[in-house]
Amino acid sequence: MVQLGFAGLGVMGARMAGHLLRAGHRLRVWNRTPAKADGLIESGALWCDSPESLAESSDIVFLCVSRSEDVSELVGRMAQASRGGTMFIDHSTIEPHVAESLHGDIRARQLAFLDCPVTGGEKGAIDGTLTIFCGGEKEHFDTALPFLECYGKKVRHVGPPGSGQKMKMANQIAVAISVLAMSEALVYAQKAGLSVADTVDLVGSGAGGSWSFANYGPKVLSRDWTPGFAVSLQQKDLSYALASARDSGACLPGAALTHQLFAALEASGRGGDATPALFEILEQLSGGRD
Ligand code: NAP
Repeated sequence: MVQLGFAGLGVMGARMAGHLLRAGHRLRVWNRTPAKADGLIESGALWCDSPESLAESSDIVFLCVSRSEDVSELVGRMAQASRGGTMFIDHSTIEPHVAESLHGDIRARQLAFLDCPVTGGEKGAIDGTLTIFCGGEKEHFDTALPFLECYGKKVRHVGPPGSGQKMKMANQIAVAISVLAMSEALVYAQKAGLSVADTVDLVGSGAGGSWSFANYGPKVLSRDWTPGFAVSLQQKDLSYALASARDSGACLPGAALTHQLFAALEASGRGGDATPALFEILEQLSGGRD
């Protein structure tokens, strides 16, 4: 039986790991804050005291941590401890050039690395309906696919190392601007004296609709800013996307503007809020709540 390991049991990782367990796989887990593993351990996962001991005992190691530097540090430590042939599958959203360079480092050790960022949010992770963009060697992708399908509804090999992260950058550009589009529509509706609830329902189900309207519109109505996907993570992703765009020569005025507006939320101490809280920044710019 293939031995699986999962490092990084936050909002997304804990849910993905749960799907692997429910599919009947033998799973070891590690998280920097051990208490977040409690539910998985109750469901049958085995606890490892360090990333190194997780790597030593796993054929495939999944990661879902925060930033480029977190992935680089963890993969470096785990690669040192790995037995031959281990595959690392990284679900974090990180810079494409970092994924490319990790792939090179790992290959030099006769190990395998796939960059496999995900989209679909916390709900997609809970429901096991994530879309997963995979960069790396096709034969490694073919080995990983049956495991990724435990929580991915659409799982696609999109090209060589770093391609999964590049696809994720494209996704984050679209998601961020769609949060702005929804927020502008709802602030306009409020100022114009419309029912904001009707606007969420009617505009959200027509040509103006989007994933953001469907999932974040109700959050705006109840002013529920519990993440979900926090502003600080969105800002990380937009800063990676804007840097990657500079490298590739793409011009992204909408992403740059959205990045600045989210910066206003961060500056007011709201980096931990869910991204649709952007509505309240536009509301303030429009003279405040009616
Ligand atoms: P989260 O709930 O904040 O969890 C982050 C996880 O990373 C936690 O397990 C945390 O450990 C761990 N971590 C962070 N820095 C670490 C370090 N230096 N060493 C070891 N562990 C570290 O974040 P999330 O929402 O699950 O997101 C995880 C990744 O998925 C991010 O790259 C994010 O951009 C991406 N993503 C998120 C969503 C979403 O909707 N939330 C959707 C798609 C992609 P502790 O528990 O000790 O803090």
